[in-house]
Amino acid sequence: MQPLLLLLATPGLGADVQADLHLDTPTQLYRRKALLDGDGMEAALPQLREGGTNLAVEVLWPPRDADWEAHAAKLFDIIEAEDRRLDAVTLARSPGEARSVIENGGVALVVSLEGAHGLDKTGVDGLRRLHARGLRMLGLTWSFSNRFAGSSGDGGGGITGDGWALLAEANRLGVVVDVSHASDRATMDACGWSHAPVVASHSNTDGRREHARNLSDEAIRCIARGGGVIGVNVHGDFVGGPRDVAAVADHFDYLRRVGGAGVVALGSDYDGLIKPVAGLEHAGKLAALWAELRRRGWTDAEIAGARGENFMRAWTQVERVSQALRGGPID
Ligand SMILES: [Zn+2]
Repeated sequence: MQPLLLLLATPGLGADVQADLHLDTPTQLYRRKALLDGDGMEAALPQLREGGTNLAVEVLWPPRDADWEAHAAKLFDIIEAEDRRLDAVTLARSPGEARSVIENGGVALVVSLEGAHGLDKTGVDGLRRLHARGLRMLGLTWSFSNRFAGSSGDGGGGITGDGWALLAEANRLGVVVDVSHASDRATMDACGWSHAPVVASHSNTDGRREHARNLSDEAIRCIARGGGVIGVNVHGDFVGGPRDVAAVADHFDYLRRVGGAGVVALGSDYDGLIKPVAGLEHAGKLAALWAELRRRGWTDAEIAGARGENFMRAWTQVERVSQALRGGPID
């Protein structure tokens, strides 16, 4: 085979992955009784297509006053219904599945739970059930501490006994652990202990904007050391500065400087009642971000990493650790 044909025949090299690690679109679909290909959202299918996002992490977020587990299940129902209804989107349960959806021109949906309060009653068993449905990412906390971990939203502490059991099961199942919203202590606990890479799906840097929701240099280095990634958020309050594309790119630059280019990803937080910075009002405008990084001298490989390949690497490693912990090929 000629080298070019060999290249084309190698799985994975054909697909140009652009991942967004945190989208609250399911909550909008629920509240507005809207459809994923409908109007008026920041990261529904029209915006994803326009901006090139082909791996969308869709978030199950149980509000504080809801029946948390029932609400998460309801949002999962909505995602599954859209998966059945729309040819353009497909639920992806592994990096290989995501890659194949993308190679066929579709958008891969990866399901995440934002806050382990969504497992308050059922814990490890509940995680197993959600995993069986296709859940592949678990945020330890939302804005309040829960029985598994402390939150940055209320000055919470580290991982609890129940939290360690949940983390161990996440590693075993191959569920990516997400420390966005977790307290500093819980973040360091998780990333220092986990056998698999951990991610901060939608968090920025204290170095560019000091904020309880942003990450210290120590946390950035810890996540990078473990092979994880950090998804930069486009919410103006977390970005700071002039709240424009350049201010978002400053967080990308900072992450690259402190944690290396391999730690960088995007986790916009679109549809999460955020105030997106000027120039990145919705997911259809993301080309402006990649252009800004290119203008700043990021290489094609670094941009490809930030757009999605870094996350694919981390997710693949999570899967490998799961296989090793289960003692064989994944079932
Ligand atoms: Zn959030």
